[in-house]
Amino acid sequence: MAHIAFFNFPAVGHVNPTFGVVEELVKRGHRVTCTATEFFAPAVKAVGATPIAYESPFGEFYRSPYNDEMMAGEGLRCLDEAIALHKQVSGYYGDNSPDLVVHDFMAWGGRFYAAEHNLPSVRLFPSYGVSETFNIAAKFPWSAPDDPKMLEMVQRLTELLPTFGLPGDMGAFVTDVAKTGIIFLPREFHYEGDTFDERFVFAGPSIKDRSTFQGSWEPKSQDRPVLLISLGTAATGWSEFFTLALQAFGDSEWDVVMAVGDHVDPAGLGEVPANFEIRRHVPQLDVLRHAKVFLTHAGMNSTMESLYHGVPMVAVPQMNEQRANALRVEELGLGRHLPREEVTAESLRASVDAVAADEAVAARVRTMQETLRSVDGATVAADAVEGRLAADD
Ligand code: UDP
Repeated sequence: MAHIAFFNFPAVGHVNPTFGVVEELVKRGHRVTCTATEFFAPAVKAVGATPIAYESPFGEFYRSPYNDEMMAGEGLRCLDEAIALHKQVSGYYGDNSPDLVVHDFMAWGGRFYAAEHNLPSVRLFPSYGVSETFNIAAKFPWSAPDDPKMLEMVQRLTELLPTFGLPGDMGAFVTDVAKTGIIFLPREFHYEGDTFDERFVFAGPSIKDRSTFQGSWEPKSQDRPVLLISLGTAATGWSEFFTLALQAFGDSEWDVVMAVGDHVDPAGLGEVPANFEIRRHVPQLDVLRHAKVFLTHAGMNSTMESLYHGVPMVAVPQMNEQRANALRVEELGLGRHLPREEVTAESLRASVDAVAADEAVAARVRTMQETLRSVDGATVAADAVEGRLAADD
C-alpha cells in the first residue's frame, strides 16, 4: 500500500471536500498524511489520516469575515503560505517520502515539494477547475490586472519556480495538470464543464452527515413551508440584510430559520416574529432537508448542499466566487440571483415567492439533485488517486 501525502490549503471550504476521499483511501489500506494547521488536525485524525503540523501565515484569515478588499492581497498571501508550508513540512517528508502528492490547487507548497523530488501528483479543485482553456479568475477577476500586489506575487513566484525545477512561467504553473485533476463539483454545474478533458474527474461535493458535532434540527410544523436564510460563515456583519428579511417574512406563511453568523448579534435585531427561529448557526443540512427555498449568499458549499437536497435558491452573493455561483444558479434555472444593491424587503419577498412557485425551476433542481446523488464522490476521487499511483511515471 502507498503513502499518499495530501497538501491542504487552510480554509474550511478547501479542506472539507478532502475528507471523504482521505477516509476512502485509508479504508483501502493506504497510509495518508495531511498537512494541517492546528485547527484542522482533529478533523484529519477523525478520518484516519496523520496530520503533519505547520503554522500558516494566514492565521485566522479564513475563519474571520473577509471582503473583496481584503482579498486583494490573496495572491501574495498564497505565495507566503506556500513557502511556509514547503519549508515546515519538508523535514518530515524528507524521512517519510510519499509515493504520491495530492494537493489543493492553491497549496502551491505541495507542488514545490513534488517537483523538487520528482514525485507524481494529483491536483484538487474544491470549487471550479482550472485548465488551459478555463479559469474562473479570468471571468471573475480577483484583482485588476495591474494590481501591484498581484504583480509582485507573479514576479516573486516566477523567480522561485526554477529553484524547484519548474519552468518560470506563471501561466503554465496554473494550468499544467499533467495527468489527474479532481473537481469537487458536478460537470453539469461547472462553467464550460464540457471543455475539461479526461485528465479531470468530476467527483461532486462530498456531503457528509455533521449531526455528531452540529446537533440536529426538526421543523416545528409539517404543514408550513420552511425558508432557510443564511449568508454563510464569513459574512461581514451586514445586519441590515437580516432586518430586511424580518420585515419581508415576519408573520408570513413561511416558517423561517435564519442563521446570522458570528458577526451579527441576534439580540440587536429587535423583536422576533413567532414564525422566525433566529440562531447564529444552524445544522444547515438538516434544515435543507425540510426547506422549500434557500435565501443564500451562494457560497459553493451552500449552493451544492441546497441542490443536493433539491432546494431552489435566491442567491444574494457578497464576493466574487459567490457572484459566479449566483449567476450560474440563475443561468441554469435553479433559482434567482438578487444583487446586493437590489435587496429590499419587497424584492426579497417577491424573489422568494417567485422561486417557490416556479415549477420549471423545481423540475431543473430535481434533475440536478439526481445528478449529484448519482455520484459517490469519495469513491470516484479515490479511484482517480489510485489510477495516478498506478500510472507508469
Ligand atoms: N453552515 C452551517 N450552519 C450555518 C452556516 C453555515 O452548517 O449556520 C455550513 C454550511 O452548511 C456550509 C458552510 O457552513 O457547509 C458554509 O460554506 P459556504 O461555502 O457556503 O460559505 P462560506 O461560509 O465559506 O462563505
